[in-house]
Amino acid sequence: MPLPNPLRVAIIGSGPSAFYAAEYLQKHPEIAAEIDMFERLPTPFGLVRGGVAPDHPKIKSVTRVYDRIAAHPSFRFYGNVTMGEDITHDDLIQHYHIIIYAVGAQTDRQMGIRGEDLPGSHAATEFVGWYNGHPDYRDLEFDLSQESAAVIGNGNVAMDVVRILARTQAELRTTDIAQHALEALSQSHIKTIYILGRRGPVQAKFTSPELKELAELEDAYVRLDPEEVELDPLSRRYLLKSDDRTAERNYQLLKQYAQNDVEKKSKGIVIRFLVSPVEITGEDHVEAIKLVKNALYEDDNRGLRPRATGEYETIPVGLVFRSIGYHGVPLPDVPFDDWQGVIPNEQGRIIDKYRQQVVGEYVTGWIKRGPSGIIGTNKPDAHETVQQVLEDTVRGVFLNPPTPSRHAVEDLLNTRGIRYVTYADWQILDRLEIENGKTTGRPRLKFTRVDEMLAALDQYKKEFARVLKM
Ligand code: NAP
Repeated sequence: MPLPNPLRVAIIGSGPSAFYAAEYLQKHPEIAAEIDMFERLPTPFGLVRGGVAPDHPKIKSVTRVYDRIAAHPSFRFYGNVTMGEDITHDDLIQHYHIIIYAVGAQTDRQMGIRGEDLPGSHAATEFVGWYNGHPDYRDLEFDLSQESAAVIGNGNVAMDVVRILARTQAELRTTDIAQHALEALSQSHIKTIYILGRRGPVQAKFTSPELKELAELEDAYVRLDPEEVELDPLSRRYLLKSDDRTAERNYQLLKQYAQNDVEKKSKGIVIRFLVSPVEITGEDHVEAIKLVKNALYEDDNRGLRPRATGEYETIPVGLVFRSIGYHGVPLPDVPFDDWQGVIPNEQGRIIDKYRQQVVGEYVTGWIKRGPSGIIGTNKPDAHETVQQVLEDTVRGVFLNPPTPSRHAVEDLLNTRGIRYVTYADWQILDRLEIENGKTTGRPRLKFTRVDEMLAALDQYKKEFARVLKM
């Protein structure tokens, strides 16, 4: 079968894996891919905008690469378009030869313990969305009048949450943290933040730069009971035998922290290991968290796992952030594996419940492999997916849309009254955010509501038209 020219490709989502998939397609001019990227929000970049901690600006500078990808003549961005509502699976089949889902993992995992839903117990994902100004979370409230908070889990998201709770106003002001979060955190009474890991120091999921960063906070110190850094025989053997350098570096840093004298700083970060929450308690708000002490055992398939010992303790805390991982959300009419929270696939090719390939449909990023890895992990991931697209396309395996034209898609959106946002529009918003930040000495003042973003665009365009007429 001859290759369609252009090969119409829809990418759903606009985070790192979406952009890397676009980039790999662009590297193959022989397939003449015309890429339309759809995004639910008017702003692109997924977790780079809504997830990466505001005090990690270097990580966010990766968006310059995405700008370059978006500048390719065959690329279009359609922001403010929700798949399943504004554009359906059926619509995509009508207009595209290839569909790539890159929607990430948009919700949190549940722990399944009593009290998990008490007021004051939050998913870390909500707090992260809130301080990053994600429109879905900007109106949430966190009771920062409490003096103690517990963060459950010890991955890098947990570390982000801890740092944002521990940083001073002066530190936060220099970041692009959302203004509402900056103001709320300036009134925070939190003095003690616990990080609760269910396994030991060697199994902690945080990486060493994040651990090291805790010691560099302006007005917070790290506390760690020397006994909790003592390794059990299984962990000791693991460290000796493996070449896990992150575990080794973490362990050395943690030993140093355990020897720290208490510093004269206002906030304390208490790192705990081998404890699992069994209950969150409180009358009508979180008042305490009940923990069970764990010991490690060797599981042939999963390495060292925690097992409850039957020894309990309760620590008084008024806020809990559950940071135990993200979970994918199904898309209408697309296969989904509820247990794993991913779209079932083989190397990026979507498969149905009979394990048959779903022709023309692919997946990349967290919704493909689960919520793991750093931004760069999405490059090989997207590369693998695009390889399958290329192989299939050459074999003539793709969808056969009756109206494979960009025009037809834009007509459809216009007919439905969908106000889509282009990449040029986003770049206006980007510039306005930076300009607005300058007025208050901030690097950027984020728009945090969709209607504010659309109104700002209208206003800008009106002004621009007026100036042109003059
Ligand atoms: P993560 O790294 O998978 O960490 C999840 C944590 O939750 C682990 O400590 C895990 O413990 C714990 N956990 C899971 N279920 C639990 C339960 N039932 N009870 C108690 N603890 C439980 O996930 P994440 O922190 O959400 O991060 C997601 C990905 O984004 C990671 O790959 C991370 O490195 C990346 N990320 C990177 C950065 C950065 O580069 N700066 C920043 C943020 C996120 P076990 O280990 O025992 O399972």
